[in-house]
Amino acid sequence: MAILADPLRLVVGDKAAKRLASALDLHTVGDLLGYYPRRYEQRGDLTDLVTLRDGDHVTVQAEVASVSTRRMRNRSGSIFEAVVTDGRGHLTLTFFGRGRQDFRERDLAPGTRGLFSGQVSSFRGKRQLTHPDYEVLGTGPSGARAAEYAAEIIPVYPATSQMPSWKIADSVYLALHSLDVPDDPLPEQVRCRYDLRGYADALRGIHRPADMADVQRSRDRLKWDEAFVLQVLLAQRRLAATSYTAIPRPAVEGGLLAEFDAALPFELTIGQQLAGATIATDLVQDHPMHRLLQGEVGSGKTVIALRAMLQVVDAAGQAVLLAPTEVLAQQHYRSIASLLGPLAMAGQLGGAEHATRLALLTGSLGAAARRKALAESESGSAGIIIGTHALLEDRVQFDDLGLVVIDEQHRFGVEQRDALRDKAGDGRPHMLVMTATPIPRTVAMTVFGDLDVSTLTELPAGRSPISTHVVPAADRPHYLARTWERIREEVAAGRQAYVVCPRIGGDGPVGSDELLACDDAASGRASAESASDDGAETRDGASPGRPPIAAVDLAAELAAGPLGGLRLAIMHGRLPPDEKDKVMLAFADGMVDVLVTTTVVEVGVDVPNAAVMVIMDADRFGVSQLHQLRGRVGRGAVPGLCLLVTEAGEDAPARARLDAVAGTLDGFALSRIDLEQRREGDVLGTAQAGRKSSLKLLQLLRDEDLISRAREEATALVDADAALAGEPGLAAAVRALVDAAETTYLEKA
Ligand code: ADP
Ligand code: MG
Repeated sequence: MAILADPLRLVVGDKAAKRLASALDLHTVGDLLGYYPRRYEQRGDLTDLVTLRDGDHVTVQAEVASVSTRRMRNRSGSIFEAVVTDGRGHLTLTFFGRGRQDFRERDLAPGTRGLFSGQVSSFRGKRQLTHPDYEVLGTGPSGARAAEYAAEIIPVYPATSQMPSWKIADSVYLALHSLDVPDDPLPEQVRCRYDLRGYADALRGIHRPADMADVQRSRDRLKWDEAFVLQVLLAQRRLAATSYTAIPRPAVEGGLLAEFDAALPFELTIGQQLAGATIATDLVQDHPMHRLLQGEVGSGKTVIALRAMLQVVDAAGQAVLLAPTEVLAQQHYRSIASLLGPLAMAGQLGGAEHATRLALLTGSLGAAARRKALAESESGSAGIIIGTHALLEDRVQFDDLGLVVIDEQHRFGVEQRDALRDKAGDGRPHMLVMTATPIPRTVAMTVFGDLDVSTLTELPAGRSPISTHVVPAADRPHYLARTWERIREEVAAGRQAYVVCPRIGGDGPVGSDELLACDDAASGRASAESASDDGAETRDGASPGRPPIAAVDLAAELAAGPLGGLRLAIMHGRLPPDEKDKVMLAFADGMVDVLVTTTVVEVGVDVPNAAVMVIMDADRFGVSQLHQLRGRVGRGAVPGLCLLVTEAGEDAPARARLDAVAGTLDGFALSRIDLEQRREGDVLGTAQAGRKSSLKLLQLLRDEDLISRAREEATALVDADAALAGEPGLAAAVRALVDAAETTYLEKA
């Protein structure tokens, strides 16, 4: 008998094991039994052939309608064709052979029913499978085949050309038969409470169901495994985090924080006060804070982070702020320097009495400036150090690192969090991660399940709402002309505008790699997204047949035409960092009217006088990214206007996305839309992605209730038995999940 961890060859033999490994990346009995059917065929129900699409790998159940054999021209050999049907549509099976193909004529006589598997293509207007694998139903040989035939329901597995569905089913059959009853990963109480069937039953039921109700019960149960095992792992991590020590950093009376608060030119929102109070309390604990702060663009996260940093500096510690890009690090540096004023000018003329110092550490720093920043960081004379990935390098040392703040969490991996964490001397630093991408609750629970979460739900008062409109440039060309006029009007009224393009352009021919260059390499999920399908020219039927609009080209056109006479500047990720900084500064200072840019401005950039944003080829951006982008306008007293220019037709799916963005300012609602269109693996990041994703049945949005319950159950269990001593099946499942995550992690490195 076999166990789940056994290598497949022990149950299916060397040959099949090799094929399963190479074609589907399945290596153990557990891997194979975790490879679930995509759908099920009811015996006798023919597959709907009309819906097949070119390029699909399909397994269809159909009946042979007619056959023919003809000789190949100029060659010795023959072409055997069988036309199969579901009663409505037709599909041609084409086989090329050396001599005659008598055996196929015998196999596939008219009236025969079978399963046919291959890749759909079109030839002279006819759908066909070339050299499909097939399995005639009702005449199967012994063993597995016969048992298969006896079943009412045929599982259809995601197959490849080397591995048709029924060969997978054969191996699964063997594995199920030789499997020893495995320890159940779900504790008995959980199974009873939620009326879930046993693990062995569920495995059998999902692979070889008696009927569809059997499938359903099995799926319900196996979904629980996915949610529960992950939540147990996260609960263990949360528990482990509380066992680390950190230096408590209590607020000091009359310290920098108090002075800062007294001088703050605005009132904190209720949300800011609440989150601030929670964080202040976290920092006093002797175990590390581990908190996610989420809030819309402009909700005022930076002030909260700064207040936490000041509390730590008051308590003799240092704080770092890690930003995802050079531009953002510099912007944080400038805005924090101006918020702190004399409080950050220790040792300088005009510095306050117990002032600290601010250091900036980025990759583009000159040698002298870098030496100075490194020295200030190491000696502790800089209380607050702001920077990019450059902060992670070995030679960056701290005197007493007490707090790590990470801006835009989704651009940093766990390994980077850990790199900074290891730079603290005694114990661990407190950790605050900030994200402006609103995440639905269950996703937060799943992706950031080892973090506590604070959420800012309101924007500071005095913000003007952003209105968003779709500009259908193809149907209504004069709307585009009106768009440029609108910019001129705003500029005449003393305001500024962004024009965002999906591509940099400029020198040389257009290559699809340019799309990736759209931004600093670390950034831009959606820019990578639009680049993914090789040129992105037909994404959702949008702007077909031409490359995406490029910032450099458009800037030239605008300067020579509709925006002639205005002060234009160009900004993109390929500019040298100091050039980027100069452009951004000039725009912030009002020396530039219109900034033609790529998604470099996506996150965090703050120019309150910018009132309009025009996004070209808006259909090429993701929903969340559009929402982030438009957060750049409407930051001052002036109402923001965002125009989404697209050539996508009214009925294109891309258009529906844009209408959704125009229709709501609710970032949470938009992130749900985004999520629905994204594979869950993308959301979970690399560690969870890939074919062996740990989430196969579970859907983060649809299964919210289940995930919440699983989290409660998992937390209770881990509190009672952290090592899972009483649950060997669960312990093994958690180990397997960690291993899978590590394998993917290693492959990535
Ligand atoms: P986020 O990082 O969440 O996108 P920021 O912290 O950059 O937002 O805040 C955006 C702007 O709003 C900044 O100029 C900041 O000084 C200002 N701000 C923050 N909190 C408030 C508040 N309570 N009232 C008014 N303005 C605020
Ligand atoms: Mg910010």
